[in-house]
Amino acid sequence: MIVIDGKKTSQDIKSEIAARVAEIKTEGGKIPHLAAILVGNDGASQTYVGAKVKSCHEIGFESTLIRLEETVSEQELLRVVEKVNENPDIDGLIVQLPLPNHISVEKVTDKIKPEKDVDGFTPANVGRMTLNWPAYVAATPYGIVELLKRYEIETSGKHCVVIGRSHIVGSPMSILMARNGNPGNATVTLTHSRTQNLKEITQTADILIVAIGKPEFVTADMVKEGAVVIDVGIHRIADSSKKSGFRLIGDVKFDEVSQKASAITPVPGGVGPMTIASLLYNTLQAAEKKIYP
Ligand code: NAD
Repeated sequence: MIVIDGKKTSQDIKSEIAARVAEIKTEGGKIPHLAAILVGNDGASQTYVGAKVKSCHEIGFESTLIRLEETVSEQELLRVVEKVNENPDIDGLIVQLPLPNHISVEKVTDKIKPEKDVDGFTPANVGRMTLNWPAYVAATPYGIVELLKRYEIETSGKHCVVIGRSHIVGSPMSILMARNGNPGNATVTLTHSRTQNLKEITQTADILIVAIGKPEFVTADMVKEGAVVIDVGIHRIADSSKKSGFRLIGDVKFDEVSQKASAITPVPGGVGPMTIASLLYNTLQAAEKKIYP
């Protein structure tokens, strides 16, 4: 059984990007610049954005963090997005979600220029990905694709079952696994909260991708012997034996499922670290105008 090491893979990717940034510097080219908009004081969002900004510094990118009050109006936020859109020095823009309830995520997402949409959330990039055109692919699905590729996991002709149909993970994942490409060419079943006989379906999966958002939902009896299991879930649970007072678990019961799987991502250290690496990669592509030449 292989434990798919997302931490190491993400570090490899970051090193590759840092090497490219060093080359760009030598060539006198433009240093990639990521801007992040953070609205309000949500603890988790601050941590995520902080980690993204820190990673930018580590690999030699420029970054700008724009912090706005929780009470900022939708119109004002749209104006800030517009300003970043028009700023030629900024290559990529992310707006950290969730946003306060009085702001429409759709309106804000739709305002981001597709050329700078390194989160891959705009209709333009989702559409391009669906058509199998060059696109910024959302960071989490892109990270999973990269793990499958670097671990040389065969996907062609396999049955891939995805649990969860969110816009940021499950849905794009199902499209990427079904596309004519590598990884891809799988026969995909996308399951969700209305799916009947979920266990019967997951038992037939050669590749099982779990993004349900329920702690340790997938148990060994749901998994076929030899399956590849990708666990997207992240949950904090109290653990007094840890200094922090908590530990992280996934959507998959790792101890028992790993006994049956041929390869599996752990939590932490699996899909999670790949997300930031993918965002950085998208930002490099934006700076080098690879998607929209
Ligand atoms: P979500 O809550 O938006 O979606 C959950 C999906 O699960 C829904 O589509 C729903 O239809 C489906 N579902 C619910 N009950 C079901 C059932 N009984 N059977 C089948 N399907 C069912 O979740 P999300 O945003 O995709 O996130 C999923 C998990 O991944 C969460 O734990 C989240 O924290 C984590 N996550 C991790 C990363 C990362 O970087 N590793 C990124 C995004 C999300």
